[in-house]
Amino acid sequence: MKLANVNGRAVLVTGADRGIDVAIASCGRYGPDPAAIYADWDGFRAWAAEGPTGPENVFARADLRSPSPSPRQIFAVGLNYDQHAAEAGFEPPNALPPTFTKFVSALTGPDAEVVLPAGGEVDWEVELVVVIGQVAQFVAEDDAWDQVAGVTIGQDLSERVSQLAGPTPQFSLGKSFANFAPVGPWLITPDELSDRDDLMLGCSVDGETVQHGRTGDLIYPVSRLIADLSEIVTFLPGDLIFTGTPSGVGFARSPQRFLQPGQHLVSWIEGIGEMRQTFLAST
Ligand code: ZN
Repeated sequence: MKLANVNGRAVLVTGADRGIDVAIASCGRYGPDPAAIYADWDGFRAWAAEGPTGPENVFARADLRSPSPSPRQIFAVGLNYDQHAAEAGFEPPNALPPTFTKFVSALTGPDAEVVLPAGGEVDWEVELVVVIGQVAQFVAEDDAWDQVAGVTIGQDLSERVSQLAGPTPQFSLGKSFANFAPVGPWLITPDELSDRDDLMLGCSVDGETVQHGRTGDLIYPVSRLIADLSEIVTFLPGDLIFTGTPSGVGFARSPQRFLQPGQHLVSWIEGIGEMRQTFLAST
């Protein structure tokens, strides 16, 4: 199942640019608010598995929003691929990986325009994003995928000057400027993926591929992330987990590279789709 947020309405995606409005097809049982669906994810999945019918509507990419539009928590994980940890100058984590938040005000849809903060150095980080579908605490690794509603694409856009200024890194602030958490284009349930634990992902700047990796190389795969983090936090329906980025980020290059006004960033994950951001100068 693919679930999209089209201008604030939940839509079951039936084609590249079309889908069935959930509220209409379910006679008001689910939707229209996509956020409310995660509170009864099992019921919604059972309803969707019945093959609901309804009028198919064409939607515009510009109307896509984050498939989980108002998560109560957004988790983001750093240094979760060996080659990225190495390029960033860190040892791979041997305990819990570095975990921070992207504040929810940074969340946006898949095709946002992003203003580059004045004096900043904005970098790309393509990531698999997990959407949680249950209240989950003390989860066993074998049960972890059962807590997941689906997955989608995220960009952990990162302003490196503010991230690295001061006595300790400000991961959460440096990664939470407006529209620094684009997510989409839709949620896809793990059963639709060829291998939920090994998906090709990457991104390009103005057509040049800058990151290319596989989620099979995650040091902490999705199931272990959920299990280990749930020893401390309680996951809530609709929460997002940015699972970490592969190598190829701009600040680790020589010379360093950062996003410039007018540049286009395209991010993709095998079996899910792609997202596109355009960057603008601050005024
Ligand atoms: Zn990241």
